Amino acid sequence: MRHHRLIVPSAAAACLLLAIPASAAEPAPGAPGIGDSYYPSYGNGGYDVSHYDLRLKYQPKTDRLEGTATIVAKAKQDLSRFNLDFALDVREVLVGGKKAAFTRTGDHELEITPSAALDSGRPFTVVVRYSGTPSKVEAGGFTGWQRTPDGGVAANEPESAWWWFPSNDHPLDKATYDVSVAVPDGTQAISNGVLTSNSSQLGWTRYNWRSSKPQATYLATLAVGKFDITTDTTANGLPVLNAYSKDLGDTAGAARASIERTAEIADWESTVFGPYPFEALGGYVPNVSAGFALETQTRSFYGPKKFAKGSNVSVVVHELAHQWFGDSVSVKDWRDIWINEGFASYAQWLWSEKEGEGTAQELADYTYDSYPADDPFWKVEPGNPGAENQFHEAVYDRGALALQALRNRVGDKDFFAILKGWTTKNRYGNASVKDFVTYAEKVSGEPLAALFDTWLFTPSKPGATQARAAELSPAKAPVRPKSWQKIQAAHSER
Ligand SMILES: [Zn+2]
Repeated sequence: MRHHRLIVPSAAAACLLLAIPASAAEPAPGAPGIGDSYYPSYGNGGYDVSHYDLRLKYQPKTDRLEGTATIVAKAKQDLSRFNLDFALDVREVLVGGKKAAFTRTGDHELEITPSAALDSGRPFTVVVRYSGTPSKVEAGGFTGWQRTPDGGVAANEPESAWWWFPSNDHPLDKATYDVSVAVPDGTQAISNGVLTSNSSQLGWTRYNWRSSKPQATYLATLAVGKFDITTDTTANGLPVLNAYSKDLGDTAGAARASIERTAEIADWESTVFGPYPFEALGGYVPNVSAGFALETQTRSFYGPKKFAKGSNVSVVVHELAHQWFGDSVSVKDWRDIWINEGFASYAQWLWSEKEGEGTAQELADYTYDSYPADDPFWKVEPGNPGAENQFHEAVYDRGALALQALRNRVGDKDFFAILKGWTTKNRYGNASVKDFVTYAEKVSGEPLAALFDTWLFTPSKPGATQARAAELSPAKAPVRPKSWQKIQAAHSER
């Protein structure tokens, strides 16, 4: 596997040592983190994953998960060892079919030393055999696994993969997925993409899911439980699959009245944001107690509490908009969260405008007016909120306000060209807040740094002059738009 090395006389070797840094000459360990500014230990360096094949078996009675993960990757440097991120118990690791040594470090690092070093540019496969009880595992001070009376669910941000599969856990390393899960007959396993097949044998039903477009690890999801399944198609013929726990009680009707509008909403969003980026779509509502929703790729997770007070189409608009903003175009670094939440929130304003429940301008005016200058809301910079405020309401509300300020500045024609162009240019990739500012300047031909500094990077309430410059009307007290309450209810994602 290794390059053959020339045996050279010691004097020449000394010259070589002077000329070549030791790190280039000798295989070295991959970094234990990918370099994220908020979460330095997330992801890993030295390799890139292209595909995850997860073959799992899950027993709802005991919350016992057993699995074999096969990871297809390529080395980006000469690697003496590398890390995966994972929190369950590992029994065996193979690299290139040969047993590899492994050890645990920190709360989610699996450090793997292959039997021989891996050459830069070389494709390799890793097989990890594992098992565990995800609900009993806490890492990083929390759990990404939610236990339900009839199973369990992996859905969380910025990560939930640690609780069900080993990975390079950062949006910078996207991959395709095959997720195959065996569960007792009468129970379903829901995941991303398309259900390619399912079959029953000896009391166990195996569900085979395929997600064939690049997908970030935190957007991979698994839900096991007893579900009612509905199907539909979009105008373009894409398959919609929704799943509702049989256990939703009084919330079942409102959940369906919201999520069954998935095809209609995706069709409308396609006219605003450009073609839907993936091969399938839908949502699922498990019987968890959590009140948040999450844009898990192609199949959003909705906590039932979202529908406890009646239907909420706005939350479906938000999670579906994330398929373009967050899932297809993902953050480079978690500090870039505004390129996800600002846009998904603004999609709700656009939907409100279309439905005649308040224009985006009215929502922007009301947002500006409803938080007084001394409210902590204005202390959070949506463009770099800090890990502790990553999902603060300012990232959503002030984040959307920044987009209305941009729209007023460049006009509707350029604004909507920017939205569509951005999702096309960065499809299946990663981008930063700075990349967006640069792109908006390019399309509009206007300098926009000052505008974004005001609305994304100032830790105080922009004053009357700046509000007037953004065509907000702070002088009169705006009335509360009809859509306000549902939009706010959708944002409390956690
Ligand atoms: Zn969101």
